[in-house]
Amino acid sequence: MSYDVDAIRAQFPGLDDAREGKPFAYLDSAATTQKPRCVLDAVARWLGPAYGTVHRGLYRRSVASTQAYEDARATVARFLNADAKEVVFTMGTTDAINLVAWSWGRSRLKPGDQVLVTGMEHHADIVPWQVTAPITGAELVACPLLDDGSLDEAAFDRLLASGRVKLVGLVHIANSLGTVNPVRRLAAKARAAGATVLIDAAQSAPHVPLDVATLGCDFLAFSGHKVYGPTGIGVLWGRGEVLESMPPWRGGGEMIERVSFERTTFAAPPARFEAGTPPIVEAIALATALEWLMAIGLEAVAAHEHDLFTYAEGLMAQVPGLRRIGTAPERAGVLSFTLPGAHPADIAAVLDMENVAIRAGHHCAQPVMARFGVPATARASLGCYTTRADLDRLAAGLHKAVKLFG
Ligand code: PLP
Repeated sequence: MSYDVDAIRAQFPGLDDAREGKPFAYLDSAATTQKPRCVLDAVARWLGPAYGTVHRGLYRRSVASTQAYEDARATVARFLNADAKEVVFTMGTTDAINLVAWSWGRSRLKPGDQVLVTGMEHHADIVPWQVTAPITGAELVACPLLDDGSLDEAAFDRLLASGRVKLVGLVHIANSLGTVNPVRRLAAKARAAGATVLIDAAQSAPHVPLDVATLGCDFLAFSGHKVYGPTGIGVLWGRGEVLESMPPWRGGGEMIERVSFERTTFAAPPARFEAGTPPIVEAIALATALEWLMAIGLEAVAAHEHDLFTYAEGLMAQVPGLRRIGTAPERAGVLSFTLPGAHPADIAAVLDMENVAIRAGHHCAQPVMARFGVPATARASLGCYTTRADLDRLAAGLHKAVKLFG
């Protein structure tokens, strides 16, 4: 069946936002995606007539909520080709990486150990390590990037060879550059060097099929709001035996076996890492989003976005003076750029007047900005609902910006 982008768009009320006769071109899906109607309906149902708490109540409403919440976990497991016991609900990617840093990191890292991340990580995979590593005496090191925004793999190999690296944090698709990292290969090298591997899949989960059985990582994190689901929900997948071996990081209800003032014992994962009343509705609606995405097919979405990406690159090549930031051989989803004489915020403002929404800033990747010698970039990013017409309007707006600022 061919990819019917119009039928997909028709399911997104958030895209229906014409201004002064100009249709809305939403090109900020890397920041957050719009939501299909089925997700809005799921929120309305599970927050409305079906609402009830989970894991506690014996009445029908609560039993149904509990079932839907645990079914949501099973859906996430299917999305990742994992076991449901390995799926921990978090508040998002940031929260998931903090979980690893506080639980795994604080209990495993020792003085002299290193956490190795790439120079293109989002702050979410840098700062949690900067907060926790010093407590343990470990240090954070970053693998440099090549001029095209790809990882300097020779440097990666050298850094691993120190024998000190205990955890490697790898962003799958860099949100500031669009670089697609060869995570399977890098994870294999890291594991061969004795390191535990965490993949930040915040940008890849909406764009490419993920299979933790073959990725070769120990942890993988992603956010609900970037895969057409709600905010406030995300996932940490952890390899079963690794999760089993980790201490809790937050204490409270639901994560315990028995509590007394003398001694408390903790529940098995994933409950051990889900203290308190969880984001019930968000988890269920995330599963709705993932079911919806899987029904379209991640391969079909990837092919659609690949076609658009190539088209967008062709259009951008015709904009005088436009500098692309991030030209690695493998790239996807995100097009970062600057224009001479224009601050990225000005570019975004000109485009907004055309009802074209892009992002401008450091994209929570200040080390990347420093590496490329820019304070910020403008960034257009794609989603399953993006069309060539959206990109044509982006290009027309960019030509306008060149005239204004050039
Ligand atoms: N990692 C990457 C690559 C991202 O793009 C983002 C968000 O932009 C994050 C982590 C953080 O995600 P969240 O803010 O949903 O926790």
